[in-house]
Amino acid sequence: MNITNSEKLFEEAKKYIPGGVNSPVRAFKSVGGNPLFIKQGVGSKMIDVDNNEYIDYIGSWGPHLFGHNPSFIREALLNAIESGTSFGAPTEIEIRMAKLLTELVPSMEMVRMVNSGTEATMSAVRAARGFTGREKFIKFEGCYHGHADYFLIKAGSGALTLGVPTSPGVTKGNAADTLLADFNDIDSIKRLIKLNKGQIAAVIIEPVAGNMGVVRVQEEFIKELRTICDEEGIVLIFDEVMTGFRVAKGGAQELLGIKPDLSTFGKIIGGGLPVGAFGGKKEIMEKIAPSGPVYQAGTLSGNPLAMAAGLAALTKIKEDVSLYPLLEEKAVYLENGFKENLKKLGKNFCLTRVGSMSCMFMTEENVTDFKTAVKSDTSLYGRYFHEMLKQGVYLAPAQFEAMFISTAHTTEDLNNTIAAHYNSLKTIL
Ligand SMILES: *Cc1c(COP(=O)(O)O)cnc(C)c1O
Repeated sequence: MNITNSEKLFEEAKKYIPGGVNSPVRAFKSVGGNPLFIKQGVGSKMIDVDNNEYIDYIGSWGPHLFGHNPSFIREALLNAIESGTSFGAPTEIEIRMAKLLTELVPSMEMVRMVNSGTEATMSAVRAARGFTGREKFIKFEGCYHGHADYFLIKAGSGALTLGVPTSPGVTKGNAADTLLADFNDIDSIKRLIKLNKGQIAAVIIEPVAGNMGVVRVQEEFIKELRTICDEEGIVLIFDEVMTGFRVAKGGAQELLGIKPDLSTFGKIIGGGLPVGAFGGKKEIMEKIAPSGPVYQAGTLSGNPLAMAAGLAALTKIKEDVSLYPLLEEKAVYLENGFKENLKKLGKNFCLTRVGSMSCMFMTEENVTDFKTAVKSDTSLYGRYFHEMLKQGVYLAPAQFEAMFISTAHTTEDLNNTIAAHYNSLKTIL
């Protein structure tokens, strides 16, 4: 057998980088095989170092709402780089970014920029703790909020796939302040609050779960959660790192009609560069240093290149009124194709979708939370993944992830994907 360039690079990478990758889920561990090394992204496609071309449904794990390397973001970056890469002093573009974010997400009266989703969520929890003077917080089983210690308790995404729900290196002390609730189960929240009266600073939730596969939040549940947080003086944090500007112009909170106290963003707001943000009610955000005592900082936060790319993306999002209807249309088209395929194959796998994020769970059960999500046949998913890859479709290399559609996906891409879906399932079932 010929050794591919990707295989050669992976062997080399493993010598210097743990597991050969800079983020675990990239390594194909849960689907088997070796990761592909990518050399270029163009629109809906990625090209690997062996010159294979794939229709990409990961979009760098969410950021690429407009496909790979769109010209308007590239131009914004080229323009910005002329003036320098970083100053460590305030710049005007940071104001424009903050203004636009608060305009698009009305629950956010003030916002602070950071460099990743993880930084955004850990800073939001700190702000909530500083504001309330309480220490504990609630997260939901299967939700992922980045890799800060106290979030790695039954977390989703790579932490779920790799079977390290509680990572070594996370102290008992850290774990003790994280309370776990069940997604879509308001009684589990009520129980925790009763047992920890007056001690809970925050509830953090993915308002559409995307890291245990895509799981819709039930409207009644999220409404009640909002009410309970108000009654108990608990800061409600929507982690919109994935859903922000993905499921709607104003994020999942717009879709659900619920205003959180704090929100976190990442992925799309960086236009493909490393950016995160957290923000919300002024009374909470003014506790952040230097206007308040809650310390939060970042050498490269609000970086001019990152702001240029992010602002270009968000400006397009603000101005292009056909954007979300177009994404919805593409997503519905693909979903209908998948549905027909499943019907023909006599399989009733659970398809979930909110806007342009979707998921096929390899189970016929209705997936509403973590416990039903993990009924999926992950080894079957692995075979499905590899068949799709053979046919030129690049999906997330793990069951419990989302599939993202961008504006760059053409009808031809979608038709090819629907055909590949049918052929792949036919081969493996
Ligand atoms: C991706 C993600 C994060 C973490 O963001 P990073 O930029 O990878 O640190 C946090 N929360 C949610 C909901 C995410 O999808």
